[in-house]
Amino acid sequence: MSNNKNNPTIPEDHPRAQSLHYRHVLVDGMEKKIVTPSGLCAHGRGEAYDYILGETTTDAAENAMEAAVAMILSAKHPVISVNGNVAALIPKEIVDFSNETGALLEINLFYQAPGRLNAIEQILRDNGADKILGLNEKVSVKLNNLSSNRRIVDPDGIFSADVVLIPLEDGDRAEALIESGKKVIAIDLNPLSRTAQKSHITIVDNLIRCIPKMVNIARSMKKMKAEKIKGIKNNFNQKKNLDQSLIHMIQYLQSKI
Ligand code: ATP
Ligand code: MG
Repeated sequence: MSNNKNNPTIPEDHPRAQSLHYRHVLVDGMEKKIVTPSGLCAHGRGEAYDYILGETTTDAAENAMEAAVAMILSAKHPVISVNGNVAALIPKEIVDFSNETGALLEINLFYQAPGRLNAIEQILRDNGADKILGLNEKVSVKLNNLSSNRRIVDPDGIFSADVVLIPLEDGDRAEALIESGKKVIAIDLNPLSRTAQKSHITIVDNLIRCIPKMVNIARSMKKMKAEKIKGIKNNFNQKKNLDQSLIHMIQYLQSKI
């Protein structure tokens, strides 16, 4: 954990060693144009919620992950939307998840600075990605109901997807994806965000903990019969699951009084 050029001296036993490590990973990512200053702010907001989650993966999150993997494995054309923070924090894990499930990777950015798309493509390729969508702006199409850059999507990717995984997403875009008829799976540490509230399945967990677990879930779920996988997907109750995450946070805070 200490081989980071921006901070070579985080002691392993520092109580916030992991959090500090990932902050430096993001700062490195910013120097490489992968991450933007807004990405740093978004991470900070996530960290605050992670604190009151106890920096742990809850049972509710585990259940949501299983339903999410089941939904992706049952989909015809599942796509993973990749932004700068995802590429900087978990490049190998997101590529592994794509390979395990067959969900395609599409780079989708809010801030399109020169060289940024290439930097994100490069880190994904360095981590084993083969097919990457969202690279050809000339053949991109637009999602309705959205004014930002992220309305631009790949016609072979998000535009024609039936299921979209959005690890870290702004509420406007999550809403536009839902309104365009797609099933949306969000990973968001804030159970109160619009993204978390509007998505069909929300995993309230840190994507750093969550994606490696989802790779393992996908590996074992792939051995199950299609009917069983559908059952896991259909038995998921989003409202109840979000409530369980909030209750976990309330109980965690109460345990500190
Ligand atoms: P919304 O637009 O959905 O209402 P928001 O405006 O509060 O939410 P944004 O900045 O648009 O938030 O998106 C960032 C979201 O990503 C935040 O809700 C934050 O909790 C979440 N987040 C940041 N880092 C992580 C992480 N590592 N794992 C999971 N979620 C994260
Ligand atoms: Mg937002």
